Amino acid sequence: MSEVYKITLMKGDGIGPEVVDAAVSVMDKAASIGGFSLEYEECLIGGAAIDSTGKPLPEETVASCKSSDAVLLGAVGGPKWDTIDPSIRPERALLGIRKELGLFANLRPAVMFDELADASPVKNAKGMDLLIVRELIGGIYFGDRGTYDCIEKLPDGTPFGKVSYDTESYSQAEIRRIVKAAFTYASGRRKHLTLVDKANVMESSRLWRTETMEIAKSFPDVTLDFLYVDNCSMQLIGRPASFDVIVTSNIFGDILSDEAGMITGSIGLLPSASLGDPGKPGLYEPVHGSAPDIAGTGKANPIATILSAAMLLRWSLGKPEAADLIEDAVRSVIRSGFRTADIASQGENYLTTEQMTAKILEALK
Ligand code: NAD
Repeated sequence: MSEVYKITLMKGDGIGPEVVDAAVSVMDKAASIGGFSLEYEECLIGGAAIDSTGKPLPEETVASCKSSDAVLLGAVGGPKWDTIDPSIRPERALLGIRKELGLFANLRPAVMFDELADASPVKNAKGMDLLIVRELIGGIYFGDRGTYDCIEKLPDGTPFGKVSYDTESYSQAEIRRIVKAAFTYASGRRKHLTLVDKANVMESSRLWRTETMEIAKSFPDVTLDFLYVDNCSMQLIGRPASFDVIVTSNIFGDILSDEAGMITGSIGLLPSASLGDPGKPGLYEPVHGSAPDIAGTGKANPIATILSAAMLLRWSLGKPEAADLIEDAVRSVIRSGFRTADIASQGENYLTTEQMTAKILEALK
């Protein structure tokens, strides 16, 4: 009997269901070629979950994720839920599920398909093959926050009024586990790691530096360098192909990975994986959101989610051959000139979500 793996599907909102359905058909074909099978459990998250249960992340969804081998997520959110109480907004579900599953490492590859060089806003992006390793469950997005009335005044006498604050803090343990993971990924690639921080200003960044230099001693084959985040945002535009692996904090990684993504030409091409301790389920999702502006129009590019499914097979199920098959199929379809609306040149015919998925299925052998 063939091995069976359980995958929790959280399709979410907007284009989420369209792109997850596309990825499931591709994963199923890769699994059947590879001689294993996938069993799916569909769960609610985000706006769809709010509409049906009043909560963005129902307990049953969390339980299903925890008992599965891996989780595939579409995207959450949309204008319908933009004005509801912030504590139950669809996006809260993302922070919640990351915390529940202990997903401390967010892997965001940004690879330039040479055939799409024209779609990049950057002229020297050919050859870019970057992996951003972002810390995902610490730092300012999870730190102390609050709002209080303040009696202080500006020099001209204007009262401060309310003051709001958010706090960036990192422990040695949190830094060490993500930096070790990043060194390990760099060892398996071109062996170059860049720590991105703001150590000229921030105390927490200085702890990142000292811990990273300590861990570097255990990875003598990996060269390490450092960039301040403001400089890194410029260097990414100036010399994108020179980066191998970047490791950084939650907020810096959030911003830099979107910048790196844009260089590849379309957010519709970018996959991601969020991983915790070995043996625990990882969560895989496209980098893009629910794109309500194109939901239901057939314009959603399914490639980001299909490549996320390839990462799922590689990292959570230990099926690198099946992952390679999917990645090769995507590459060959792009090389053959097939395009969705987001990556088509002006006036060029483009394929719908379903047509692009069919082309990738055809190329998968
Ligand atoms: P978005 O990523 O949804 O869309 C940005 C732009 O990219 C839009 O023009 C959209 O049409 C386009 N786009 C996105 N994915 C595409 C694809 N696969 N193919 C072709 N074009 C694509 O970002 P947004 O508009 O800022 O946010 C929309 C909603 O998604 C918001 O509610 C936001 O909070 C949410 N969001 C969710 C996630 C997530 O679930 N992980 C991430 C980001 C944003």
